Amino acid sequence: MKSASPDLSYLAPDYIRAIAPYQGGKPISELAREMGLQEADIVKLASNENPLGISPKAETAIQEALLDIARYPDGNGFALRSVVADKFKLKPEQIVFGNGSNDILELAARAFLTPACEAIYAQHAFAVYPLVTQALGAHGVEVPAKDYAHDLPAILAAITAKTRLIFIANPNNPTGTLIDKADLLAFLQQVPPHVLVVLDEAYDEYLSEEDKSQAFAWLAEFDNLIVSRSFSKAYGLAGLRIGFAACHPSVADMMNRVRQPFNVNSVAQAAAMASLADDDFVARSYALNQAGMLQITKGLEKLGLSYIPSYANFVSFAVKDAAKVNQALLKNGVIVRPIANYGMPDYLRVSIGLFSENARFLSVLAQILQSHP
Ligand SMILES: *Cc1c(COP(=O)(O)O)cnc(C)c1O
Repeated sequence: MKSASPDLSYLAPDYIRAIAPYQGGKPISELAREMGLQEADIVKLASNENPLGISPKAETAIQEALLDIARYPDGNGFALRSVVADKFKLKPEQIVFGNGSNDILELAARAFLTPACEAIYAQHAFAVYPLVTQALGAHGVEVPAKDYAHDLPAILAAITAKTRLIFIANPNNPTGTLIDKADLLAFLQQVPPHVLVVLDEAYDEYLSEEDKSQAFAWLAEFDNLIVSRSFSKAYGLAGLRIGFAACHPSVADMMNRVRQPFNVNSVAQAAAMASLADDDFVARSYALNQAGMLQITKGLEKLGLSYIPSYANFVSFAVKDAAKVNQALLKNGVIVRPIANYGMPDYLRVSIGLFSENARFLSVLAQILQSHP
């Protein structure tokens, strides 16, 4: 039966209809269409992508892998699995691959949440946690942040008999905050065994040697820990979609059962493998980010704007009329990320780009603030 203006959304369960769609960074092509701009004149600092692109080794691996795309990928990722296991001192059976680490977050939710369960995440934490929780009809518990950071004692206090998952982003997106290592360890020691902790470390490569996560080693102590890593950020493979989790083999087994057999394509597997062999590219990305972070934060200070000190490759800054400033930036070909949907309507998040991109962002922002202070 065909009606004039069909709306079949009522066929979906209430908890699906209640999902607020994910708002990503505006694609360059879309802004070009909307504003009649040349794509080459647009600077996108909105999705925490690597301004250096990808490792040259990954580029070669991609070219080679393209020759074989008529074949299905290795659904178990055998070759990549052994490289990841070697590099991070894991057992192959501890590893789960995802179509981006967002897939990992969803696999954890699908394997362990039912409508009778609760999942905990912090206010101002990554938007995908409530999304995957709600998609399962489970109850999401948002714990208020403390100075824009995770409040670990409050998260512990929110645990009930129904809690199955706690999502923690470290560093967190969009606030860039990092949890002190000793605090995180003490927290894990207090989480009861019926609760799994998903530790989302998408930005670990941007941490200093001293701050870098030791969570892979902690897996020996905590059977209920799931560590999630991404190839989208420092490795620059955002468009290929690949990430992985490391956890107890029995937890990995459950996540693999709900995983689509070919969720990670062959080109992504080859690129990830080559990327892990290019420490130099990661080191260059880290160094560029350190310099760019300094450039942008100094620039924000000069404009009299306050920001949340960040450990990642982006920084969120406060600005009067954030929505209006965002529109003005767009009009001038600069894409940043408004984060009102993260409960931060007075902030914009800017990713660290190339020196010239950062400079363009700062000069356009200065102009905007001058014309409507
Ligand atoms: C960007 C980001 C990811 C990465 O997602 P992918 O699916 O791997 O691209 C995961 N977690 C957080 C907190 C992020 O900011």
